[in-house]
Amino acid sequence: MQLDDHAEELASDLGADKAEVKEDLQSLLDYNVPIEEAKGSVRRKHGGDGGSSATPTAKSLADVDPEDGSVTVTVRVLTKGMRSIRYQGEDQVIREGEFADGSDRIAYTAWEPVDFEPGDSITVGNANVREWEGKPELNLGTNTTVAAASDPVETPYEVGGDRDLIDLEPGDRGRTVEVTVVEVESRTIDGRDGETEILSGVVADESARLPVTDWDPHAELEEGASLRLSDVYVREYRGVPQVNVTEFSTVERLDREISAPDSAPRLGVGEAVESGGLFDVELVGNVIEVREGSGLIERCPDCGRVVQNGQCRAHGEVEGEDDLRVKAILDDGTGTVTVVLDTDLTADVYGGGIEEAKAEARDAMDKEVVADAIRDRIVGREYRVRGSLSVDEYGANLDAETFVECADDPADRASELLAGVAR
Ligand SMILES: [Zn+2]
Repeated sequence: MQLDDHAEELASDLGADKAEVKEDLQSLLDYNVPIEEAKGSVRRKHGGDGGSSATPTAKSLADVDPEDGSVTVTVRVLTKGMRSIRYQGEDQVIREGEFADGSDRIAYTAWEPVDFEPGDSITVGNANVREWEGKPELNLGTNTTVAAASDPVETPYEVGGDRDLIDLEPGDRGRTVEVTVVEVESRTIDGRDGETEILSGVVADESARLPVTDWDPHAELEEGASLRLSDVYVREYRGVPQVNVTEFSTVERLDREISAPDSAPRLGVGEAVESGGLFDVELVGNVIEVREGSGLIERCPDCGRVVQNGQCRAHGEVEGEDDLRVKAILDDGTGTVTVVLDTDLTADVYGGGIEEAKAEARDAMDKEVVADAIRDRIVGREYRVRGSLSVDEYGANLDAETFVECADDPADRASELLAGVAR
């Protein structure tokens, strides 16, 4: 059935306005609430009884399918985290984490307070199955029952949310990490409740560095501190995993120091792209091409997008502002990535700023001369690049923070030689 049909049926059932019912349903579906659960909520909002429930079948987790309406499973609780979301203008606290049994593990979301903790063995009755990025997840709603299992559930999966930073993935909930705070700053954002103070920075352990945001500023989060952050969640921010600390997280000072490498981890291009996005990584390769849209470009004054033929993709005809940029393809034999140089790095490789570039373009009556000059300078040479790598529908892009020619860098040559000896 289509949303329209569900709304029609529900509205006539409840004697409510169809448009309003449809809007309520849509906003719940936007949060991936399964349709039956959403209909129950809307029913209750309009004074109905929440609807009926069929008797679900007991299944092992490996057999749970997104097509199943609802299931009963007996599982071990691996993790439990809390998060606040907003729908229909109201904040709601949800619990999220993972269950496991002998066959598999599965993510869950609970819309009501739940009476279980990591390590518990429980039977979850009448949980709704929804699909999230191709995988089934369980949704625990008002019709769901939770009871202690008669026997402990054996599972090969580790109970608890402790992880190294390198193992965090977008979508992770209820994780615990031990990190050192590399940098942190206070920022004011225009959030859903108006202006809000947050902390934003970088944390590290021996395995990786990741960006962190504290949505409920904790005083312990200060530069140089070694901390245990419990119940954090991970989401993708500009193509890389970001650690999110909330009002539900626990932030504790550790009485030992968490050590972290001084610099970014160095990876092969293929390996880095494979990882699906990395914060602060170092790549070495040859520039094989300077792509179109490099050199002297124009940006939309409203959104910063590159303007082509006086047109912004979002804002139509605009008066573009001049800028410098390079999009260079870096290749190390294992893969390729597009390295993006900002205004300053572009000025470095070009050998002049925006005014010089404009003067050269004016003299030649052709903007392309700037890109050509950059091409002449960097194509065919080897560079060591450090920055954040995002991998998404736009491809693999590395926003460079540093872009150094290997031959210019004695330290790099030395480490290259040492690496050669070690092989
Ligand atoms: Zn624009």
